[in-house]
Amino acid sequence: MSTDPAIDTELLDTPADPAQGDYAAGAMVQIGQVPKAVAKDDRVELMGMSMEDLRTFAVDVLEEKPFRGKQLFKWIYGKLETDFDVMTDMSKPVRAKLKAIAKISRLAPAEVHRSTDGTIKFLWELRDGLKVESVLIPEVKRLTLCISSQVGCAMGCDFCVTAKGGFTRNLDKSEILGQIVQAQTYAADERRISNIVLMGMGEPLLNLDNVIESMETAQESDGLGLSHRKITLSTIGLIPQLEELGKRSRINLAVSLHGTTNENRSAIMPINDKYDIEQLVAALKRFPLPTRKMITIEYILLRDINDDVADAHRLAKLLRGMKAKVNLIPYNDNPFTEYRRPRDKDILAYQETLMSYGIHTVTRLNRGGDIAAACGQLGGYKQQHPRKRTKGASAPPEETA
Ligand code: SF4
Repeated sequence: MSTDPAIDTELLDTPADPAQGDYAAGAMVQIGQVPKAVAKDDRVELMGMSMEDLRTFAVDVLEEKPFRGKQLFKWIYGKLETDFDVMTDMSKPVRAKLKAIAKISRLAPAEVHRSTDGTIKFLWELRDGLKVESVLIPEVKRLTLCISSQVGCAMGCDFCVTAKGGFTRNLDKSEILGQIVQAQTYAADERRISNIVLMGMGEPLLNLDNVIESMETAQESDGLGLSHRKITLSTIGLIPQLEELGKRSRINLAVSLHGTTNENRSAIMPINDKYDIEQLVAALKRFPLPTRKMITIEYILLRDINDDVADAHRLAKLLRGMKAKVNLIPYNDNPFTEYRRPRDKDILAYQETLMSYGIHTVTRLNRGGDIAAACGQLGGYKQQHPRKRTKGASAPPEETA
């Protein structure tokens, strides 16, 4: 726990030891976190179900009318309720039956860290003991939640803290939606979460079905009521899945480019060896965009790696003919990589160069840097041996997780 008085760190619970053991549900374990054995519970999990799923459950399992499914949906995602006894618009016998055969699970907050700027980072413990993170970012006009889609990540981006722990498994729909439902209970002044960004741990396009179906459920007006215009999926650009996303969903797309030559991008993002910049840019130009929508190009600025004005000119040329805006993300120094934050003058020069081409460019504020909740820092809680820093590198942020 941090000794920095500026950081209000709330340690809610001692995380369980992820004991070794059989894990029947997830045979995908490779490296990274180890799931623990799970006690058998045959009750049907309702968290994560869509309106249609709940209607089917109401008829086939509960042996009631389909409207019971809609009632359950409103309780689970609208009123964020888990206790069937509170659902008094259903008769006592129906509630008793629900208690016997079903459950509405919540993610357990293993740790909750509050930044001085209001950002909250959550470390959720999943039912098999694995852990993922979400970050809640309050702003004047919106309340954004950054959520994870996988435990770890297999994509191996060299600058990314999450990548250092490897990939363990995909999150299911109850775990994806559960992050939103549970984080909502921490929102100050009963503000509703208005924006979702799939930018936490994992590559969401590698968990495409669960991500798309969860985000469809999140848009239901009887539940979380999020607009597709306020949901953004961020990917490093897996072209076949990108094309499938374009056919199946209307949510916003953000693509991590982070390099303007294949040599440079491949050095920091191995995926570029499979889908190079030219292939990716061509796929983005084909991506179906509703009117008034743009693709967001995410570009992490790494000191002396990709932050030169020559890179900015190349990026502008790559984006010619594409409906795109650019988010510049100055890298956050951290103890797990040797990449460094660019100089302020280089950030400014990069942004001005892009804007000189008429490209809408925003430099993203570093939110939650004091609790390692900023971009590229998620997953640091499980890194036991930070890399030795190069001489002259700036001091790493205080570890609070
Ligand atoms: S940047 Fe994203 S895709 Fe790359 S390793 Fe990290 S989590 Fe995975």
